[in-house]
Amino acid sequence: MDIEKKINSLREELQQHNYNYYVLDKPQISDYEFDVKMEELQKLEEEHPEFKDENSPTQRVGGAVTKNFATVQHEYRMYSLSNSYSKEELEDWEKRIRKVIDGKVEYVCELKYDGASISLTYENGILQKAVTRGDGFQGDDVTNNVKTIRSVPLKLKDDYPVKFHIRGEIVLPYEGFAKMNAERVDVGEEPYANPRNTASGSLKLQDSAEVARRPLECLLYSIVGKDVNVSSQFEGLEKAKNWGFKVPAQSELKDSIDEVLDYINYWDQHRHDLPYETDGVVVKVNNFHQQEELGHTAKSPRWAMAYKFKAEQESTKLKKITYQVGRTGAITPVANLEPVQLAGTVVKRASLHNADQIEKLDVREGDTVFVEKGGEIIPKIVGVDFTKRDPDSSPTQYATHCPECGSELIRNEGEAQHYCPNTTGCPPQIIGRIQHYISRKAMDIEGLGGETVALLVNADLIENYADLYTLKKEDILPLERMAQKSAENLINGIEKSKEIPFERVLFALGIRYVGETVAKKLAKHFKSIDALMAASEEELINLDEIGERIAWSVVDFFKTEANVQNVQRLKEYGVQLEISAEKLANQTNILEGNTFVISGVFEKVSRNELKKLIEDNGGKVSSSISSKTNYLVAGDNMGPSKLAKAEKLGTNIISEDDFLKMLE
Ligand code: AMP
Ligand code: ZN
Repeated sequence: MDIEKKINSLREELQQHNYNYYVLDKPQISDYEFDVKMEELQKLEEEHPEFKDENSPTQRVGGAVTKNFATVQHEYRMYSLSNSYSKEELEDWEKRIRKVIDGKVEYVCELKYDGASISLTYENGILQKAVTRGDGFQGDDVTNNVKTIRSVPLKLKDDYPVKFHIRGEIVLPYEGFAKMNAERVDVGEEPYANPRNTASGSLKLQDSAEVARRPLECLLYSIVGKDVNVSSQFEGLEKAKNWGFKVPAQSELKDSIDEVLDYINYWDQHRHDLPYETDGVVVKVNNFHQQEELGHTAKSPRWAMAYKFKAEQESTKLKKITYQVGRTGAITPVANLEPVQLAGTVVKRASLHNADQIEKLDVREGDTVFVEKGGEIIPKIVGVDFTKRDPDSSPTQYATHCPECGSELIRNEGEAQHYCPNTTGCPPQIIGRIQHYISRKAMDIEGLGGETVALLVNADLIENYADLYTLKKEDILPLERMAQKSAENLINGIEKSKEIPFERVLFALGIRYVGETVAKKLAKHFKSIDALMAASEEELINLDEIGERIAWSVVDFFKTEANVQNVQRLKEYGVQLEISAEKLANQTNILEGNTFVISGVFEKVSRNELKKLIEDNGGKVSSSISSKTNYLVAGDNMGPSKLAKAEKLGTNIISEDDFLKMLE
């Protein structure tokens, strides 16, 4: 088949599957099949750059970096909404509408999604621009970042208007938010406070590839433009759906404020069943002519009204503050509560984050506290009912020693979290670190789960991840529930982990603040654990996107003798602690734009190897010297005529060693 046709049909197919999955929530093929098709397209596009298309589904992975976001004027202003909090306020609003409009008024009820508002501009069915609300008159151009959000169509379907704007909200669903936070906690970072701020923060990240990794969604709610051929809000929602936008299904058309109130009451009860955060209902006059008649105040349309839900809050007694120790030694204070019903679930524990938070709220054991369910899965304490405080109570003394091992806790300057420094002797840290090491994104050791790790540690068979490689089948067979077959699988899985590439090993080591992305960067730059271990803090800080905190943490990690020993042992067992030669060569383009001629015999590498090195690093090899030759790599016994020609043309003549240095 014609390649271009093939590429286009794959794009269309993938676009449709994207739509089924992200917009309709009705995937028609498995993730695996999707990935296979995506890879096929990626490969074809790489082989045929002439058919490049910025709006291809492959472009969702991001990569564009924005240093400064350009300011863009909104062609149509982005207004705020007036707020109301009661039935009476809504009825007053209706009375004001009635003074302007005779005849029937219909209302559209929508949920008020809690995220970051966005305005998308489409021309000829292609996404042109995505701009934040800003001050309503102008916002930031965040197009590169928004393009990575799977539910934002890059190309539209059906009969869309030639040019229009569509507005909506970028949200981070609870599930994705919880996952992101679990990963952060896993590398010792502080979790994000709530989905809303994380969503709006994501839009302003410089690296769009990072945005692509965040499970953001875009929910659309309003079409704006001159020739859009839409006459009402509800019709607009329907059409937007057909053009390929994600329009939440909960929007409904209502005939009266009484019906609107029913809708509000229903969603006040059921909003927690939705996958993302909502903080109210937006009621809009449906008919666009009527909207026009009603017009705007200085800040908001008169034809729309937000009804804000009351935050779900309960008060209960704080029985005790306990402390949890994570795998990096980070301490998290936990409030143990008198069980209380909140948003449909019974809450017994709430996070207190850190010492500062406890001090700020002045929370004490025995207090009656207000608990709220925000975006987090774990609810949080938002305040103390001081009227109920025992007058004899005294301020909370934050833990000074680790509850698990008794070591004195430390807190580094500028950090909110306390840490247990006993990395090698504190049980949850020992177990947690090994669990992290074997986890899927790290060494992905098949046949070994978190529970088994705890068993192995408690049976004194291992105390660090290097010990895994000394395990024998006979050692583990006596363990509870360990059959012959599973013991074999475990040993095989450990053996196989020796093939895991360096960047993942680096992540698996569990250096605080070194998550997957940072590990990749460090691996790519330093290429071996030895080089990384030799790096100074300054050297690390000078790397792109490596801040002081990470630099300090890396250096600190290798200051600990036990860590160095483990690394040394892993090396001996054959774990990948440098980028393999093959991969190394494949990775650079430092010689790009340079043409080399090789002549003579070499000591360290063969001519063929030399040739491969040049090509693998982006350079070109040519057989004869011309004005286009940049370098002549000269070995022993080189032909005199070549040398003469090179000298005449002024070509750089370099030795084998000079060349190898260029690759460093
Ligand atoms: P406020 O920020 O309180 O003035 O509320 C206005 C904001 O609510 C808008 O800028 C939108 O970002 C957001 N919003 C969320 N859901 C909707 C919706 N269904 N219709 C209109 N605006 C919405
Ligand atoms: Zn401890």
